[in-house]
Amino acid sequence: MGGETICYERMHMNLKKLGLLGISQSVDAYLESSVAEELSFVETLGRLLEEEVRIRQERTYETKVKMAGFPGRKTVDSFDFGFQPSVDRRQVKDLLTLRFMSDGVNIIFLGPPGVGKTHLAVAIGMAACQAGRSVYFSSADDLVNSLVVSQSKGSYEARMRFLLRTSLLIIDELGYLPLDRQASNLLFQLISRRYEQAASIILTSNRGYGEWGGMFSDSVIASAVLDRLLHRSVTMNIRGDSYRLKDKRKAGLIPKVVVDGARRSEESQG
Ligand code: ADP
Ligand code: MG
Repeated sequence: MGGETICYERMHMNLKKLGLLGISQSVDAYLESSVAEELSFVETLGRLLEEEVRIRQERTYETKVKMAGFPGRKTVDSFDFGFQPSVDRRQVKDLLTLRFMSDGVNIIFLGPPGVGKTHLAVAIGMAACQAGRSVYFSSADDLVNSLVVSQSKGSYEARMRFLLRTSLLIIDELGYLPLDRQASNLLFQLISRRYEQAASIILTSNRGYGEWGGMFSDSVIASAVLDRLLHRSVTMNIRGDSYRLKDKRKAGLIPKVVVDGARRSEESQG
């Protein structure tokens, strides 16, 4: 074996040892283009390092998205702002800059089912993952249940630490089921402790604030929760048609009046 072959193999071995997978995968192609384009050593090295950084960021992003436990992947690019005029595009774009997170601001999406609350919450969550922040998505019911279970198993503090450590916590669908006293208290603890450390929450609910009293075991705890949640917050009230029913309605399967009637009855519950 010639010295150059050994040198080449050692290079690949060392790249693997150092965990430089991006460079390892692309070095052959880059060496060729470097000769073809007569690039300087600095230019070639620069491109290789760019590739390594890109692959690492991509891997970190994938890991963050998996850890977040989103119900599906949604981005703002697939959100039809024309369909939902009550959603201010500029405000959403501003939220996607994640400035709200450095100020510990909470985002609350309110509105009837199907108007895109979860879609927008996930889109912001994915932007946070892209920025390398940790995100945890949970339905309100699962979240509260996990705290109740942790209490009976003696792992409450560990569970709480996890929920406090994540940079962004997304609590989806608060208000579908009423919370009993223990559940109300646990949720209050979580919200108030995140409030104290200025750690943002995104919350979605199909209940307006006026109905929150009925969601919790008593109105005192409801207002204590609202107090912490709203002190630094942005509320997006989405008033509009369900996107889920859009095509059905277009096809004439659901007359408009029935859909509106269904929403009114959903809004008046609780
Ligand atoms: P909600 O959480 O308010 O009940 P979702 O966010 O789950 O509603 O939206 C229901 C479905 O409709 C999802 O698949 C979502 O991606 C889609 N959707 C809702 N609003 C829009 C919109 N304006 N543009 C594109 N898709 C939308
Ligand atoms: Mg939803």
